[in-house]
Parts: sequence; C-alpha cells; structure tokens
Amino acid sequence: MSDWNCKLVCTGCGAEYDASKAAVRCEKCGETLEVPFDGRGEIRKEEPFGGTLFERYREFFPYFEKNDALNMGEGFTPLLFMPRLAEETGAGEILIKNESVNPTWSFKDRGSAAGIRRALQLGYRKVGTLSTGNMAISMAAFANRAGLKAFILVNDHIDEEKLNPIAVYDPCLIKVEGDYAKLYDESLSIGERHGIYFVNSDEPFRIEGYRTLSFEVCEQLNFEVPDFVVVPTSAGGHFRGILKGFLDFKKAGLISKIPVMVCAQAVGCATINNAYGKGLDKIERTQNPDTIAHSIENAFPPSGNAVLRCLKEYGGKTVSVTDEELLEAQRTLCRNGLFVQPGSAASYAAVRKMGQQGMLKGNERIVCVTTSTGLKYTSILSRHKLVCHNTKLEELDDFIAGL
Ligand SMILES: *Cc1c(COP(=O)(O)O)cnc(C)c1O
Ligand SMILES: [Zn+2]
Repeated sequence: MSDWNCKLVCTGCGAEYDASKAAVRCEKCGETLEVPFDGRGEIRKEEPFGGTLFERYREFFPYFEKNDALNMGEGFTPLLFMPRLAEETGAGEILIKNESVNPTWSFKDRGSAAGIRRALQLGYRKVGTLSTGNMAISMAAFANRAGLKAFILVNDHIDEEKLNPIAVYDPCLIKVEGDYAKLYDESLSIGERHGIYFVNSDEPFRIEGYRTLSFEVCEQLNFEVPDFVVVPTSAGGHFRGILKGFLDFKKAGLISKIPVMVCAQAVGCATINNAYGKGLDKIERTQNPDTIAHSIENAFPPSGNAVLRCLKEYGGKTVSVTDEELLEAQRTLCRNGLFVQPGSAASYAAVRKMGQQGMLKGNERIVCVTTSTGLKYTSILSRHKLVCHNTKLEELDDFIAGL
C-alpha cells in the first residue's frame, strides 16, 4: 500500500482528511473532497506529447506509482481550430477539444484512469460506479485493463442502446429501480460494506485526472490561456477538474491567468445554472428533469454546490440551452466534420447563445469541450431530417445530373 503523498480537503468547510483512508465526502459538512496541490510541478518536456498521460504530467500526480501497464492511450486529444464556427457565432476564435477520441470515446476515461490507480494503490480488488452511460463504459473498460472486478449500477430506464456497450465488458451490471440521487449515497455505503471502491462523478482522484485536459490545452496553445472554456455540465466533476487544472498550472507558475469557465447545461435540467441565477449557495433538486441530453441530466448533482462556489470565486458564467438548440448544434458540428452526442454539443450551443446575447466581442479565444461521440446515441437521430437517395445503376448518371 502507498504512503499517500497528499491529503484530502473538504471543498465546503476546509476540513482535512488522511488520504490513506478512502474518503469522498466530508464527515462534517457532507460536501465533496479534493486533493490540494502544493504548487510544485513542471512538465517533463522530454516525454513526447502522446506518450502516457500520467508520465508526462507525473509531477502533478506525485501520489501515483509508475504503472504504464494500465495505460489505454487516454488523453492527448486534438484541439481543433474551427474558423467557420467562429464566423457563425461572432467569436474571435473557436477551438474544439475533442474528447470523443478517448479509449471509450468520452472524457470520462481521464478520470477513470486516475480513479482506478487510486483504487489499486489503496489495495482494492473491486471498483464501482453509477452512471447513465459513458462513465459506466469507461469504468468497465479500465477495470478490466487493471484486472479489477467492476460493479456498475445504472437506473432502470436506461435504453438498450446504452446497456449493451457496457455489458460487453462483462462487469457486474445491475439495473436499479428507484431514486437515482439516493443511489449515489447508497453506493458509497455499499462500497464500504462490500469492499468496492466507487469511482463516482466526484471521486477526488477522478477530478485529478480531469485536470489533464487543461494541461493539454495550455501546451497546445503554447501556454497562452484561452479567454473562455465551455463545459457541458451534469454532476459537475468535469467542470471542477478542468478549472483545477488551470489553477494548479497557475500555482506552478506555468501560466499567468485562468480562463473564464462557462457551465453549459440543458434548460430541462439546469440544476446548477438555475441556482447560480438565483444567487443561491446550495443547489435545489430539479423536479421532473426533461431533456434529450441524458448525459447532462443530473437532477441533484453531487458537485453542484462545489461548482456554485467555483463560479462565484472565479467569476464563471452559466448558459442553458434548449433541446432544439442542442440538436441544431449537433447538426452544425456534423457539417464541420464532428459527430458528437447532444449533451456534448451543449458547449457549442452555449457559445452560439453567448453570441446571440451580445456576450462576445469578436476578439476572444474560446475552447469548447465536446465530451463524447454521437455514435453512442444513434436513436436520437430520428430527430434530424436525414436524407438518403435511391436509384438504379442504369439511372445513376441521370440521377446525379438531375440533382
Ligand atoms: C459525464 C458527461 C458529462 C458531464 O460531466 P459531469 O462530470 O457529470 O459534469 C457531459 N457530457 C458527457 C457526454 C458525459 O458523458
Ligand atoms: Zn466539510
């Protein structure tokens, strides 16, 4: 077992915990914990960009033992210049950080890779998560890679299309009937009783893994920090991790400012954005969430209050978009070569809305994170007008001439 080279600190009340114990939430105030960064870290320039993520950024993961056998090629995703999108929205420059190209096709892999390392170093043989799709696939895959048994809890109205791509990894997959928000608390106590380390949306080392997206963006932009980073947000872990990545790089002296973080949510489940708009300190549970974007549909996000604190402290923005706007953004991204799922398109949809609301000046550089691929959710394509022509071989020439 490791001698953990870090502590865990409560994001709510600042209480400190010994990292050799598996803790995720504060015993005093119930808020989510995080790993404090001591401000010392450099990038190992000799490691090629595209080597292993945890080697390149190892000084920012001082608590992890070297273990390249766990690498699945997570991270090092492209940052794409999108001039036509900039023109369409009136932004100075738009770049897309395309997380669809991770090993299980979503950013969740960055966090799962880190969470699995945490579980292994704590001595666990079983890991778990609860998820509506992407995190389940990611944890099942990374657990297999590490030789651990995965326990995956999903809610009982998950559609078949999403179930089988989890089941194919052969985890212990359980559909649970009942309140999804209560399942979060239940999973932590079940984990304690049955020796399963749950790497849920806000597990502190999952958040640590998410920081690598920001590390890469800084490097890809030659350490010129973008003005805005727009993140499709549900449970809030990804948003926190990306922000922490910039903050830790700033502490280490590698960058001189942090971007304005934009929390992009669906109007039908804008739990965090609504609370921020009302000036609340605590999120209020969304009654009857309703959006096509199930990957960003958390009615009671575990990191909701923590994200509210981040938005306030660092001057973030919130933008909520309708299902129609998500579908429109999905189409637009396809027209530019990228097929992402509706929840993932929330970042670009939010930028378009910022343009419509006069929030853009035309000189800003914006990074939109697209979180996962469209191929995982093809049933939604019935909402688009998709065209396929028919003709006979003998008539093909005339048909094309007549188009
Ligand atoms: C998980 C997920 C999100 C939201 O991330 P959180 O950490 O829950 O806020 C956004 N988009 C996709 C595609 C996801 O799978
Ligand atoms: Zn606390």
